[in-house]
Amino acid sequence: MAKTISNLGEFGLIDFIKKHNTKALKYHNVYLDIGDDCFCFNSYNNSKYVVTTDILIENVHFKKEWSTPEQIGKKSIEVNVSDIASMGNAKPLYAFVSLGIPKDTSINFIKKLFSSIKNTCIKYGIHLSGGDTVGAKDITISITLIGICYDKPISRDTAKYGDLIFVTGTFGDSLAGFEILSAGKKILKSFEKNLIKKHLEPQAKLEIANLISKNIKITSMTDCSDGLFKSIELLTKNKGANIDLKSIPLSRSLIKYKNNNINNLYHYALFGGEEFELVFTINKKDKDRLEKLVSCVKCIGTITKNKVIFLENGKEKKFQYKGYKHF
Ligand code: ADP
Ligand code: MG
Repeated sequence: MAKTISNLGEFGLIDFIKKHNTKALKYHNVYLDIGDDCFCFNSYNNSKYVVTTDILIENVHFKKEWSTPEQIGKKSIEVNVSDIASMGNAKPLYAFVSLGIPKDTSINFIKKLFSSIKNTCIKYGIHLSGGDTVGAKDITISITLIGICYDKPISRDTAKYGDLIFVTGTFGDSLAGFEILSAGKKILKSFEKNLIKKHLEPQAKLEIANLISKNIKITSMTDCSDGLFKSIELLTKNKGANIDLKSIPLSRSLIKYKNNNINNLYHYALFGGEEFELVFTINKKDKDRLEKLVSCVKCIGTITKNKVIFLENGKEKKFQYKGYKHF
């Protein structure tokens, strides 16, 4: 049987596309090419611009029965701002919003969607600068965001041996929220509502990213869109890490949801996607300064030379990749 893209998987497909990258010429002024959270180029006055694009598709990234148009609009901007945040001291500036819409979509839905896109853009100081509009079978929202980076953009794979791995926020909530929505329960407990909120209303960590990168040397950073396991893999390319499982922050709502079942909690924390927390590294000597500067960060491990090892009370625990598969 002919091979299909399910044989390649999402990351295999991206690697394939990368091989088709055209050669950037000198005048393209490429600073950071395909493969990071943002593309970055130098302008002629040496300012650094960062560009990212993300697509949200009905029934893949959201369902109209679960999300209000306001939540969909907000999420579509936040997920892009999250990629700009992971470059460090960066600010989003211009958004291009492209829409694929079925004919029978109500005008009221579009009004609410755009009012939310507008409000989220205003919150971040983003100018809605263009886009494209076409008919489609399912609602498709593709957003390209251009920003400026005031310092050197922070890459995903520039950590050094011995650096400490830090995270913001908690992990696993979004996946739990997705499961609760899928179960279609009518009456929800407050912890279930919290988990659903994390799934439907993600919040980019732009302020924290700006603050920490202005004050501390961040040696590598990414935003956690495909799960913590994947983020750790991205930060440790050609390196390794020791991850202390018990240090991974978990919310009280998730612990309640899983009745304290610790093994299951690790699964949610490592493989649940769409968290949009920051995962980054610093030199050991900056630990105290970082922890004094922001209280919402937690050290979960150290960069090592070889492979990624997950430890529970000092003993290795093995995991197989179980994240969401697009293909
Ligand atoms: P993120 O989760 O941060 O949005 P992705 O995992 O989607 O990043 O993408 C990883 C890298 O691959 C990014 O640099 C992105 O621009 C690039 N990439 C993804 N899909 C494509 C594509 N279809 N064509 C070119 N580059 C792509
Ligand atoms: Mg990203």
